[in-house]
Amino acid sequence: MELRPLRDPLRSAEAQGVALARPALTRFLAALVAVAFLASAFPGPLGPGEAQARVSKKKSGSRKRAAARPRKPAGPPPAPVAQTLRSYTGPNSTRLVLDLSRSSGFRIQADSSSKSFAVIVPKGVKSPAFGTPVLNDGAVSAIDADETGEGFRLTVHVPEWNAPRVFGLEGDEGQAARVVVDVVRPGQAERDALERARVDRLTSTAKRIVVVDPGHGGEAVGAVGPRRTYEKDVTLAIARRLKEQLEKQPGVQVVLTRTGDYDVPLRERYRIAERYAADAFVSIHCNSSRTRSGSGTEVYFLSLSSASDEASKALADVENAADKISAGPEQGGDDDLVGILFDLRQTESMQQSSVLAEAILGEIEGGRRLEARGVRQAAFAVLKSPIVPSVLVETAFINNPAEERLLRDPGFQQEMGEQISRGVVSYLARAPVLPRNGRTGRPAPSTPANLGLAR
Ligand SMILES: [Zn+2]
Repeated sequence: MELRPLRDPLRSAEAQGVALARPALTRFLAALVAVAFLASAFPGPLGPGEAQARVSKKKSGSRKRAAARPRKPAGPPPAPVAQTLRSYTGPNSTRLVLDLSRSSGFRIQADSSSKSFAVIVPKGVKSPAFGTPVLNDGAVSAIDADETGEGFRLTVHVPEWNAPRVFGLEGDEGQAARVVVDVVRPGQAERDALERARVDRLTSTAKRIVVVDPGHGGEAVGAVGPRRTYEKDVTLAIARRLKEQLEKQPGVQVVLTRTGDYDVPLRERYRIAERYAADAFVSIHCNSSRTRSGSGTEVYFLSLSSASDEASKALADVENAADKISAGPEQGGDDDLVGILFDLRQTESMQQSSVLAEAILGEIEGGRRLEARGVRQAAFAVLKSPIVPSVLVETAFINNPAEERLLRDPGFQQEMGEQISRGVVSYLARAPVLPRNGRTGRPAPSTPANLGLAR
């Protein structure tokens, strides 16, 4: 696991700026993730139930600001204004995100018999610009937004009653506080059965399975470029092209961790790779720096102890923080990384990960469009599988205007997909073929020729 030397001594200064450059992170570093509303909050057989939660301010920051300001005359705080409502339709649930003008309490009112529930913001008002999405996606059948005597009321109608999951996210100063509502899509058991059948079908073949992970998604937008390019959109575009390229190889099958614009928790992403006993896991991301002058590509694999350098650690912290949005407060912030089970498989898969990382970076370097900044190690939660060789590609710097232009360009996305694909294929041609955890009881053939892989 030889690491290339750092080429950029300024990088650690840049990396400190990574946090500043990413709105999603700053929200969360300054954030208090409010109390979750769990299924268990409903009484016994689900009937009318209520739960309360609050999006509240982080104390230290607001105290400091208060000290610097002239004292205002005491009075009631302004009413929280419901500003916007976004929705993200995913395979298992639909996520609704309500932006409020300021932190506020909120309350859930549910009535399973009427197949609806309401999120109530006491004393809240509706912005004149508030647009209620017209949504009928199988998880949500309709949404109403009203002002009532009590305050702002968001009513969510569902085709089949399931307890929703609701939590609050505090915004940074000047940014909205958010109420996040996850509405379960009916038919989970059937979907699970379908996935199990797909896993069985794929893992019983000799095919090499590659899981491609488009970073971020849904409310977790990732880094944002100067032209408002979202990392989550670029990563999905490149991942789709990578899938297409890889599947031109007759022996290769690709599974995407997400196929649209919705949140997927980091843990779920690598567990998909483990369920398929994948031969490789490739997570696609875009880098960001404070100076806008950062440029080039980095490829990471997991570090169990320390990162290659401070910059890599800062970057991993940024990427991991996204999980506070995607996974929510109970599951977010995958902090048991250090307590990971260290076993022989981990050693083996980390060695393979470093080979995979070198192969991918070598192809990108060969493309001569971007500087290859090196293979590095850091504690990215999404790379945590002890079984599947896993890497994370920071394709280019989205906040560098020149590289943002590239990342938006379909031609460049295609090129990046092809380069990563060539790296993965050359890795697979050399990598040992492991039996699939006894699922078939039959190790796959071990010669690249059998798999139709080009060297
Ligand atoms: Zn990212």
